[in-house]
Amino acid sequence: MRRPLVAGNWKMHGSRRFTASHLEALKVLLADVAVDVALFPPSVYLAMSATQLDGTAFALGAQDLSREPAAEGAFTGEVCGAMLRDVGCQLVLVGHSERRSLFGESSERVAQKFAAALGAGLTPVLCVGETLGEREAGSTIAVVNAQLQAVADTVGLASVAAAIVAYEPVWAIGTGMTATPEQAQEVHRAIRESLGSAGLETRILYGGSVKAANARELFSQPDIDGGLIGGASLIAEEFAAICKQADQR
Ligand code: PEP
Repeated sequence: MRRPLVAGNWKMHGSRRFTASHLEALKVLLADVAVDVALFPPSVYLAMSATQLDGTAFALGAQDLSREPAAEGAFTGEVCGAMLRDVGCQLVLVGHSERRSLFGESSERVAQKFAAALGAGLTPVLCVGETLGEREAGSTIAVVNAQLQAVADTVGLASVAAAIVAYEPVWAIGTGMTATPEQAQEVHRAIRESLGSAGLETRILYGGSVKAANARELFSQPDIDGGLIGGASLIAEEFAAICKQADQR
């Protein structure tokens, strides 16, 4: 039985003040929710988030990590998996489309980061998804499978299946356009099939302009196990309402 997970990716938003008040609000709003909730603040706010979330069931995750497997070294500006573990992270996003498109992260780089996360004892949340052009060309499933395969080639399919996968159509991220529940379900099912028998246990999240108003329909699909929420995760009441929709699926 896959327990739903709702994850909030704050992207490059927040401040010390926002982090403190947002986490306090979420602790109150989500006190009774029976789904897993994970939060991904910017890296500079992870340590204070860990302190504030101590004793709660919230999981903490980073938005990125170094591909370097070493626990330290001369890599100016980089933050490695061991450091993320050290400040209290359990999870890390890998392959988010903004990293792929804005920072030139190739599938090979994504695979290296996935491996580095595993090496540090973090659970990767592997993001995959097609552009609008790829969807219109009918290559959605092929694109997503190639993104999964690139990581599986490095770490093995079983390690991908043991992680968390987020299907995020690029055209739906931050645009207000959401995949229909049927479109999303079709891709989620294909991902699960590609992961083999272990994929039956893999949590596959949907991401792309999820809001309280569309979450229930998406989360009610058989292969959608929750969501990766960007913009709406910055509004405590909205994010809490999305988590509650996952609770009622
Ligand atoms: C995301 O950043 O992963 C995301 C899905 O963003 P949004 O919900 O804003 O589309």
